[in-house]
Amino acid sequence: MSYQALARKYRPETFDRVVGQTHVTTTLRAALRKDKLSHAYLFAGPRGCGKTTVARLLAKAINCLENREGDPCGTCDTCQAIAAGNYLDVLEIDAASNTGVDNIRELRDMAQYSPSEGSNRVFIIDEVHMLSKGAFNALLKILEEPPARVYFCFATTEPNKIPRTILSRCQRFDFRLMSRDELGERLNEIASAEDTVLEPAALRLLVSMAEGSVRDGLSLLDQVIAGCDGSIAEQDVVDAFGLVRSEVYLELNEAIVARDAARALRLVEELAASGQSLDEFSRGVVTGFRNLLLLKIDPELAPMVDLPPDLVERLRQHADHFSEQDLLALIDLAGTHFERIHRSTQPRILLEASLVEYCRFESRVLLSDLARRLEALGGAPTGAAGGGGSVRPAPAKPATPPRASGGSSAKPASRAAATVGDTDDPWTRLIDDLMRRCPRVASCLMLGRPQVDLDAGRLTVEFGPDKKFQVKTIEADCPTIAEAATAVWGRPLKVVLGLGDTGQTESRREEIRQEVAPTHGEELQQARAEDPALDSLVDLMGGEPLPESERENWKSGD
Ligand SMILES: [Zn+2]
Repeated sequence: MSYQALARKYRPETFDRVVGQTHVTTTLRAALRKDKLSHAYLFAGPRGCGKTTVARLLAKAINCLENREGDPCGTCDTCQAIAAGNYLDVLEIDAASNTGVDNIRELRDMAQYSPSEGSNRVFIIDEVHMLSKGAFNALLKILEEPPARVYFCFATTEPNKIPRTILSRCQRFDFRLMSRDELGERLNEIASAEDTVLEPAALRLLVSMAEGSVRDGLSLLDQVIAGCDGSIAEQDVVDAFGLVRSEVYLELNEAIVARDAARALRLVEELAASGQSLDEFSRGVVTGFRNLLLLKIDPELAPMVDLPPDLVERLRQHADHFSEQDLLALIDLAGTHFERIHRSTQPRILLEASLVEYCRFESRVLLSDLARRLEALGGAPTGAAGGGGSVRPAPAKPATPPRASGGSSAKPASRAAATVGDTDDPWTRLIDDLMRRCPRVASCLMLGRPQVDLDAGRLTVEFGPDKKFQVKTIEADCPTIAEAATAVWGRPLKVVLGLGDTGQTESRREEIRQEVAPTHGEELQQARAEDPALDSLVDLMGGEPLPESERENWKSGD
């Protein structure tokens, strides 16, 4: 006896046996019981989810001699003839290969003849969206005045390509992909009917590959069953389809965390040597980062990660080494790489380059996150936790003391002990204020020598002849400077920037520098010096202060 494909052998004989489409089958059975059938049905949905199976069941139920409560009996002569494709009044047409108007005219002619006595004619048109415009018009003519005892069942994966005029004459059912559980149950059931034990890990793989399509699931099962004797393990599935073992992706994660590009490259070598698809691997890398992101967002999302519990546990530990921002960026990168690798004639080289890029990936850790993590570890540096300014962006309000007042600072005592609020010098106060809000302006401005004419309401800042560029840089910021100056001197001041013979002296500049708020880089240096834990953490993560512009983005996205 010739081998019969599982999908065929286990094709449902009753509506009850159709998995995952009860919303369709209950309605159809009710219509059959009450004899309220529509002349045209449209079954829309992804491939392999049972549209033609249900169409055939409907054709049988309409014609079955022993119709039981809307279900075909499956055993009467009619049912058997339909199942074998020998029943003259049930016609299956594949629109993909019969797109023309002639085919439909032929069909129309056939529809005009009465079906044989006691029978109903059912036309099943698969992939109906492939019909030509002319064919649709011919079809429409029939649907406008359907002959008695003639029914149409259209199946399509692309209902949006069907003319509205046709759609409006059909009763439409949307088929859905099967859930993992439904598909797993069905595959298990069929495996045991075939006297085969399907190990859970193997089943998980098959279900994952079938992507919700029962037909695909069964044809995959067909292939593994053919080469096994009584039991199917994960390795059988991996071997049968040249899959990449899940562990490989975890090894890649470890290489990325360790920034060990050589290790990642050796993975490629191993995959290539064992003849595995690099294309599939690069697709799997995207999924791998996606899995990490899910676990990062919420460990409770583990059921959505398609891996056995022990691997999920390992993955959870990996997730600790990435920030959400990292993973979003990595998914983006890996997606782009996959596209390129997929289309390339040199997939291996591109894959290797992509892995090196992941291993060299600059971690986008928010300094505020670092501080938070430290706090969680119980080792918050006084500078970081207290002043808020050490590793977070400087506070906008100068009223907040920017630094901790402890004496443990590695900086000169004058920097740590006194806030600028204590200084009598208004120019220093002005620079300090600006340093917190716009360090770019402050660091340029402090190169100039100030002259205040309170009577004239004017602050003139004179720069040396070599500082043209700096003056140009902050020209547009004069209103900001004026506003800050007005606050410092307590009366309205205009700001005039000018080039003169000399600017601020080096020593005076250094004096001011010592007094004013530190830059972000300096803040970080200071916090690291004060706290060895933060120091090693920053080393470990390779963290650096973000440029001011990016910092704003992070803050607003926080
Ligand atoms: Zn029957």
